[in-house]
Amino acid sequence: MRNGLPDSKQRPAETHEETDLAKDWITDRDRRQAETPMHWISVEREHRKTWAVTQERAFRAKPIDFLECPICHEGEFRYFFRRRDVGGNRGGSWFWGDHCRRFDHWSSLVPEWWNDLAGVPSGVLVPEPEWLNQHWQEILAAQDRA
Ligand SMILES: [Zn+2]
Repeated sequence: MRNGLPDSKQRPAETHEETDLAKDWITDRDRRQAETPMHWISVEREHRKTWAVTQERAFRAKPIDFLECPICHEGEFRYFFRRRDVGGNRGGSWFWGDHCRRFDHWSSLVPEWWNDLAGVPSGVLVPEPEWLNQHWQEILAAQDRA
């Protein structure tokens, strides 16, 4: 007999301990997310090729279609473009996953089919797409969708 107790009496204690740990972990994670709503992560080196393929698909997409995040497969792959000059074809591009919050941002071509969204406050077009993600429905609404 280990610890002077039969095995059948040790097991419930272990189970109870694991349950408490899991509960603490979830609470901790939820609290962290609430405190840091602007946490975004750069696409890791090993995922960049896969990510770039989906960027290409997004660039060609018309009308905007649902694209799944190619890395976590749990959320939507979202994107936003902004022309530097009206009628021009160069500007900025943003790509992000709304679930895993991976993102990147480029100075790039803007697809011809893209309709610039009016009323984007200056100062929100930083590399991290927090504002863009929160306004995704408006971004979609500004596009001519079939
Ligand atoms: Zn993802």
